[in-house]
Amino acid sequence: MADWSGLTRRLESSGAGRLELPFAEIERLIGGRLPPSSQYPAFWSNSSSYAKAWKRAGYESTRRGVPTGYMGFVRTRTLTAAPTAPGPAPVAGQSGRATGEVILVGCVKTKAPGASPARDLYLSPLFERRRRYAESSGRPWYILSAEHGLLDPGSIIEPYDVYLADQTAGYRQAWGEWVAAKLTRVRGSIDGLVIEVHAGAAYVDAIEEPLRRRGAVLLTPLAGLRRGEQLAWYDGPGEETWSREQVVPPVPGDEQQFQDLVILDGPHEIGSFTFRWPTGTEDFDRGWDLTVEAAGRRHRVRHGLGARQVYGTRRRHSVTFVDDWAAAEGVAPDDYETSGCLISPLKDHAGRLIRPGEQVPAPYDGFPLVSHAEQIVAPYSRDALAVRLHWDDITSWVGYALARLSVRRADAARPSQVPATPPRPTGPRTSALPPAVVRALLDYGQAQAPAAVGQVTFTPHPEANALIMDNPFAFLLAVIFDQGIPAERAWRAPYELMRRLGHLDPARMLADPEGVRTAVAQPPVLHRYREKLPGWLVAAARIVLRDYAGDAARIWNDHPTARQLQQRLDRFPGIGQKKAAMAVEILDRDLGVPVRELDGSDIAYDVHVRRVFLRAGLAEYDGLDHMIDVARRAHPERPGAIDMPAWLIGRQWCHAGLPDCPACVLSDVCPKDIDRANAVRGA
Ligand code: SF4
Repeated sequence: MADWSGLTRRLESSGAGRLELPFAEIERLIGGRLPPSSQYPAFWSNSSSYAKAWKRAGYESTRRGVPTGYMGFVRTRTLTAAPTAPGPAPVAGQSGRATGEVILVGCVKTKAPGASPARDLYLSPLFERRRRYAESSGRPWYILSAEHGLLDPGSIIEPYDVYLADQTAGYRQAWGEWVAAKLTRVRGSIDGLVIEVHAGAAYVDAIEEPLRRRGAVLLTPLAGLRRGEQLAWYDGPGEETWSREQVVPPVPGDEQQFQDLVILDGPHEIGSFTFRWPTGTEDFDRGWDLTVEAAGRRHRVRHGLGARQVYGTRRRHSVTFVDDWAAAEGVAPDDYETSGCLISPLKDHAGRLIRPGEQVPAPYDGFPLVSHAEQIVAPYSRDALAVRLHWDDITSWVGYALARLSVRRADAARPSQVPATPPRPTGPRTSALPPAVVRALLDYGQAQAPAAVGQVTFTPHPEANALIMDNPFAFLLAVIFDQGIPAERAWRAPYELMRRLGHLDPARMLADPEGVRTAVAQPPVLHRYREKLPGWLVAAARIVLRDYAGDAARIWNDHPTARQLQQRLDRFPGIGQKKAAMAVEILDRDLGVPVRELDGSDIAYDVHVRRVFLRAGLAEYDGLDHMIDVARRAHPERPGAIDMPAWLIGRQWCHAGLPDCPACVLSDVCPKDIDRANAVRGA
C-alpha cells in the first residue's frame, strides 16, 4: 500500500523553489507503484485527491513531464507550520524561491498625462520596481490593466481612470476571465505554465480561479506584504542569476592534481537559480555553492541541476561552474530513473573525446568510467568514455570539474602550433576540406532547423514573429534592421516600428520619412544607426513601390533562382552580400518560399561564420571569395545550408576571445586552430 506522506516529507525537506522528481523516485518515496492513471496529466492535477501530498508541503504540480516519466513541483507558499518530519535545516543564503515562466505586473492609479507605451504609462515607486524586476528577469511579462485586461508592455495606450479595486464584483469576475483568455491567446495553452503575479489582492483574486482552471500554477511572492515591505523586497537581492559575460577561465596551475581536493565551505544548497548563457538562460531547479582548495588554489564552485532537451528527449542536466567557468556538464543516461546517475564524456587536453581503449589522462584517475554510447542509445550519442556519477554526489562532480580543467590547462600552456597570421595563398585553393567537419556542420544545421515551415522563432516576442511570417515587407525591413544589433532585437524591430507608426505601409513611409526617422529614434531606440537606417527603410519602401507594385512578396513570389533572389535583395540599400545570402536561406528554409537552383545559394560573409570556418580548418584565410568558395566546395548542392550552423556555433561557442571548445558540437572533429581567426573583425 503506497504511503504518500513520503513525498510530502521529501518536498518539505527540499530547499528548492522548483524540482522535478522521476516517477521511479516518487515510487520509492511512497513505497509502492504509481497507479496506471499516473500516466495521464489529470492524475497530477492540483485538485486531485493525491494533490494534498504535495500541497501540504507548500508545492503545486506543473503536470509536466508525464511523457518522460517526471513530475515537476513548484513551491507556491512557504510553510509556517512545523514539517511532518525533521528535514535538513535551511542553510544560509538558501532562498529556495520559485520563479515564474511568465510575470504579470499590476497597473497603478497614477499615470502619465499622454499616450505612452504601457511600460511607461504607470507612475509610482511600486510600479517602477515591479517593472524593473520583470524586465531584468529576461522572462516574458505583461501588465494587468483594469481597463484593458492584459497588456503587452509595448502597447501604446491613453491614460484612463479605472482601478480594479473600485469596480463591482461582477466586473472583476468578468475581467479575470478576460485576462485568462487573453493570456491563453498570447501564450497558447497555459496548462502547467508557472505564472508569477506582482499585483494587488484585487487583481490576484480576480485572475486566480480562471488561470488555475486552465491548469496554470500561480506564484504570488509578495502576497500578504505591506507596501513598504513590498518596496524593500524589490530593493533586496531578488532573484539570483549568474551571468557568463566577461567571464575568464580559472587561472591554471602547473600539473594540478585534485586528489588533494579540500572542501573549505559547503556544499550549501541554494535552491533554484538561472544562468545566463550567451544565447539564452537556463533554469536550474537545484543548486549548490562550495568553496574548495586544490593544488594550493582556492576556487568558488557552483553546481546546478536542471533539465534540457538533449539526445532526443528531455533529460536531467547538470553544470559545474568553477570560478564562473562552466567546467563540466552531466546528462542523464537512459537508466537515470533507476540509477539517479549522470554521465559526462571524457575529453583530452585539446578538447577531443577520449574513445574507449585510448589512454586516459591522469587527473581522471579514480573516476568510474563507462561507454557514453552504451549509456545513451540515441543519434549523436558520443563514441567516448564517460564519467558516471550520482546526481547528488556533489563533491565528486566538483573533483571531476577540476580534473577537467586541469587536463585542459595542460594544453593551454603549450605554445601554439599555428602562426598568428597564416600566409595567404597566392593561387586558388584546391586542397580537400575536412569531411568530418563538413558533415558535423550539416548535421547540426539539420538538427537546428525548425520542425516545419513557419515554426521558426526569430525573436522571443510571438507577435513580432507572427508579423515577420505574415507580412513580406516586415520581413524585408527585419533583414535591413539585422546589422550591428542583436538579431533578436533586429527581428522584433519591424513590429515595434509598426506600433510607433501605426502602420507598416510603404506608401505612407515614403511620404513621411521624418516620421520614420522619429519612430526609429524614439526611446528605446530601435537601432543604433539612427541616421542611416531610417533612410534605408524609406529607400526599401521606394523600391518596393517602384519595382514590385508595393508588394514586397513580389520580390520572391515568381520562383526565382537562389542567385536571382540574392541579387534582387542585394540591390536594397542596407542589404549587402551577407544579408542577401542569409535572407535567401531563411525564405526557403523557414518561410517555405520556393527558391529554385539552391546550388546557387551562398553563405553570408558574417563574422561568426568566418571565425568558425577558419578555426575548424575549412578556410585558410579570411576573404569573401575564399569563404564563399569553401562553402560551395563543401556542399555544392546547397552552399547556403552551411551558413546557419556555422553562425550558430560562432555565436554560441566559438567566441572571438576564448572559444568554449569543450561544449561545442564540433569539438570532436574540429582542429581548433584558434589563432587563425585572430584577425577576423566585423559585425
Ligand atoms: S568552439 Fe572550438 S571546437 Fe567549436 S568551432 Fe570553435 S574552435 Fe572549433
